[in-house]
This record gives sequence, structure tokens and C-alpha cells, in this order.
Amino acid sequence: MSSKERSSTVPLLSQKHSGIPENLLDKAEKAKVLIYETRTKSPGTGQRLLVIPQGIEQARFFQAIEELGQTLGVENVEVNDKPLVDGWYMEHPNTHDMMPILDDEELVASAVVYPSDTEEVQKIVLWANKYRVPIFPISMGRNLGYGGAAPRVRGSVVIDLGKRMNRILDINPDDYTCLVEPGVSFYALYETIQAKGYKHMWIDTPDLGGGSVVGNTLDRGVGYTPYGDHWACHSGLEVVLPTGEVIRTGMGALPGNSTWQTFPYGFGPYSDGIFSQSNFGIVTKMGMTLMPNPGGYESFMYAFEKDEDLEALIEIIRPLRIGSILENVAQVRHVIQTLAVKGRLRTNYFTGDGAIPEEIVHEHARKMPVGDHSWLYYGMSYGPEHIRKYKLDIIDKEFRKIPGARRIDPKTLPEDEYFWSRDRIAAGVPDLVELLWVNWVPNGSHVAFSPVSPIRGTDAMKLFNMGKRLHDKYGIDFFPAFCVGLREMHLIVEIVFDKKDPKKRKAANDCLRELIDDAAKEGYGEYRTHLVLMDQVAGTYGWNDNALKKFNEKLKDALDPNGILAPGKSGIWPARYRKRGWELTKTSGNRSEGNGVASSATTKL
Ligand code: ADP
Repeated sequence: MSSKERSSTVPLLSQKHSGIPENLLDKAEKAKVLIYETRTKSPGTGQRLLVIPQGIEQARFFQAIEELGQTLGVENVEVNDKPLVDGWYMEHPNTHDMMPILDDEELVASAVVYPSDTEEVQKIVLWANKYRVPIFPISMGRNLGYGGAAPRVRGSVVIDLGKRMNRILDINPDDYTCLVEPGVSFYALYETIQAKGYKHMWIDTPDLGGGSVVGNTLDRGVGYTPYGDHWACHSGLEVVLPTGEVIRTGMGALPGNSTWQTFPYGFGPYSDGIFSQSNFGIVTKMGMTLMPNPGGYESFMYAFEKDEDLEALIEIIRPLRIGSILENVAQVRHVIQTLAVKGRLRTNYFTGDGAIPEEIVHEHARKMPVGDHSWLYYGMSYGPEHIRKYKLDIIDKEFRKIPGARRIDPKTLPEDEYFWSRDRIAAGVPDLVELLWVNWVPNGSHVAFSPVSPIRGTDAMKLFNMGKRLHDKYGIDFFPAFCVGLREMHLIVEIVFDKKDPKKRKAANDCLRELIDDAAKEGYGEYRTHLVLMDQVAGTYGWNDNALKKFNEKLKDALDPNGILAPGKSGIWPARYRKRGWELTKTSGNRSEGNGVASSATTKL
């Protein structure tokens, strides 16, 4: 045991599949201190009442749990009757949403189970069908801001796949591919590739590296190298269907193949799509392509003075991005984030009510190493120096067309400047800095509004103004960041709120619901959302009398006749739950449950 292992107050990757790599331990320990210093919410004490899911009698539920314990081993079935402990990013719960917008007790599990392999996942699925118990799979449950580990249906049994299924099954240094189980984090994949000495291969990581490669990809998360679209970069799935059968997609269906991770399509309909952002299957293995080391890289940053500069900037970005002169998912972040990512409470800057005044944000930005600005563009150029120079010169010429645009020389920035975190991430090195802005308020939590739009200046301004207006209306600080993909951009707005304060939770919820509706009226839809908002977001995709929703329901009923797998996730409700008030909407209040489920037994498996 190393001395770090003995003394660390944060679990290390060498100790736990969800732990932190040793080289990030100091950062993790500091981040933890900041979070606990401002926390006033205390965890409950003593026993809690177990939440039994609707549709099963209490005695039968306990009988079912006992049976599952006999199948998996009692140590692999944990009943959730203990206080709900929120922890923090590196020590997160698998029983509930640690960043709840509803009451703590709404999105909670009745039990958590830990399968060790695909066969055990099948056994759990058959068990759920036998007893009609809703189950909810998570890989690592770090989908924070979108629901974390929480199930949508109260009292579901969470299947924590990551704890025991965390093997890297293959890394192929010739094909630049890997095959992973759900419990492999970006940290773990990166560290393993480094330990093997494969310097010629990069991974792509999201802002925080503790999430599961499988979980993040299934939820269509993004990273910041040219391989940033994780879903587009995966190749091949192994899936346990809601009725217990196992399939392999793409070339994986061909016995004896050696192309599962190199050709994603196989033959016939491309089925992978229905397993992402859905509730149609449990993914137990996934192939992922890895990026060749580009032979050099260089981060750059530009500052723009005025909010309105966004319009011209986005127009400049579009052709450069589509033409791959701008090579990665670049971020255009607003000045308030420059302040917030320092990890300090907003009360250090402003103690009044309502959204923090712009002058105050600028006043503090002026004193920072990056200087005053409205927007910062964080980008990375890849390849050997002469190739980078060619691209960077074009970028410089174009960006400087905006009056007052400033290139910030990285050499002028201190080591702890956020820029260096973006530098690591855009080079595929997982980090831990991004969560610091959660400390903007005590008991800091976040939930995202993430609409997709064309890469157009007018759309950017429309979304920016809409967001600002509604944040002002609800007295919430506005944290916009535009992430520019290849032909579209996501606006990511993180609402940071104090989870202990029901008024702040409600303001966040109300603001988000109004944002979703207003954005939809203008033709913008979210690419991903929190569990509580999924019904509403799915409802905005209602073209042709909700044809897509009806299609999803048809698939759901065919694949999951007993409606046991993650009911309600992505706004897809199985027949047993429909028309019983389970949808969460603007008017449904704080209650996540509907009125019962149909008892009809459809299929005997
Ligand atoms: P991460 O830890 O990467 O953030 P999560 O485990 O929280 O990811 O999962 C993100 C989302 O994807 C959740 O909604 C979860 O239900 C779903 N999901 C995660 N892993 C699987 C899986 N192996 N099979 C099916 N759905 C999954």
C-alpha cells in the first residue's frame, strides 16, 4: 500500500473502480474541502422507510428481494433503508439524485444490486419480470445534472453495473479500439492506456473524468478532442434485452468476427441507436474507437469584449469548424463562469438578492489573469507545429475581425488558471476542475438546459437573450456556454442552485420548464435532459401528432411487455404506466409518482 493510499481521504482508482487517479488526488482533496466547507445540509440519521415501488405488495417485494439475494449473494443486494447521503462527485450515492430539484425522497431506489457479469444481469431482468419490479440500470451513476444515479420511478431497483463489471476487456493498439464494461471510467481507461505505454493512442474525455465511458456514451455525452462525439465513436454493443435475451450489435452478431470494434454497422438495420437515451436494453459491453496521437497540440484562447460579439463570433466559427480548421468541440464561455470556476461562493462577490449584476462580474474579471471580457473561446490545434501554425494563423486572422478581440498568451497564465484544465481535456487527459463552479452557492447543485441550434449568430443571440430574460425573471445567475459541434451547437446552461432550499429548487425547475417551452416555440430542442424534465422535452419532439413518441411506445411495448426496464426514462412509458398521471410536467408539482400501474400480466417469460 502506498503512503498516498494510506492517507487519502478520497478513494483512489487503485482501491475502487470509481476512484481518483493518484495524480489528481491533491485536486480532489481540495475540491472536497471546498464543497464541505459550504455545505449546510446535513444527511438524515437513523433508518428511513423503504420506498416500495407501486404495483407490488410489500410482503411480496421483500420475498422478491430475498430471492434475488439468494441468486446474486446477499452481499450484492442492498436495501435502501438508510439515510440518503449525498456525498460529492468522487463519493457519490447510487441510491438517489444527489442534486435533486424535487424533494429528496422522490427519485429514490428501493434497493441496489450488483451483478458481476452479463449472465447475472439476465437473471436480474428475469427476476424483475417475474415480480413486475421496475429496474433502473446505471453504469457509474455520475450523470450529475441529469439525475445522477437516480431512477425515474420511485422505488425502482437500481442495477449498479459498474461496481463489479468494470473490466477493460480489450485495448487494441493496432486498430486503436477498446472494449469496455460499464464500470470503466474515463480516468481508468486513460490510466490503463498510459500504464501500457501506448503513447500513440488518446482517449476522449468529458469535462470531468469520473463518469463511465459506457454511461456517458449511451447518454450521448461529448468530449473535447476531435473524437468528441462519443456516440459517433463507439462501435458495437452487447445488450441484455428487457425480456432477458442477450444480443450483440453490428459485427458482434457474427460468430468468429474480429471486426466488432472496427465496423459499427454489421448487416441489416442498425440497432444501436435504440439503446442510447432509451429504456430498451441494458448495455453490458461497448466498443470504443481511440484517437491516434496527433503528434503535437496547442491550446489557444481568445477574449471578446461584449455580449453582442457572440453573433459575429459564431458566424466566424461556422465555416472554420465545418472545414476542420477549428478541430475540436470548442467552448465559448461567458465571463461569469470565469469567476465561478474559481470555486468560491457568489457571496464573495455579491450579497444581494437576484442575479448578480453584470458590472460586479466585470469588475472582478478585470482583476483576473485573463482580464475583463464577455466571452472566452477555448480551442486546441492539433498536429506538428507547421500544421498548427497554418490553422492558427487563419483562426487569428478571422477572430481578430471582431473589434477588441484579444488572443491571450498561455504563457501569461498561472498554473492554476482554468485554461490549463481545458488544455488537458482537449488533449484527452481527464481532469476534475470543472465541478468547482458548483460551489457558487452553498449545497451547490446543478441542472442543465441544453438546446441544440444551428451554428448561426442570430440563433446564438436569440438563445442567449431568452436565457438571460428567464434567469433574470427567476433571480438566477445565468451560466451560458456554447459548445460548437460539427454542424450544430449545443448551448449548455447550468443552473446552479442550493438543494437545501425548496424555493431555489422550485425556481430552477420553473425556469427550466419555461426555457424548454420557449426554446421549442423557436424550434430548438434539448439534446439531453434531467429525469424530471424528460416528459416535457420528449413532448416537444411532437411532429406529426407525436408520431415519434408513438413509435417509441410501440418499441417499448414490444421489447418490454411487462414494462420493467427504466419506465419513463426519456419520456417513454410502458403500457402499464400510461394514462395514470406519471408524466412530470409544468403543473405536476413535486410528486414524481402516478396513480398505480396496470396489474395485467402480459407475458410469461
Ligand atoms: P455516468 O456515470 O457516465 O455519468 P450513468 O451511469 O449515470 O453514467 O448513466 C447515464 C445514463 O445512461 C443513465 O440515464 C442510465 O440509466 C443510462 N445507462 C447507463 N449505463 C447504462 C447501461 N449499461 N445500459 C443501459 N443504460 C445505461
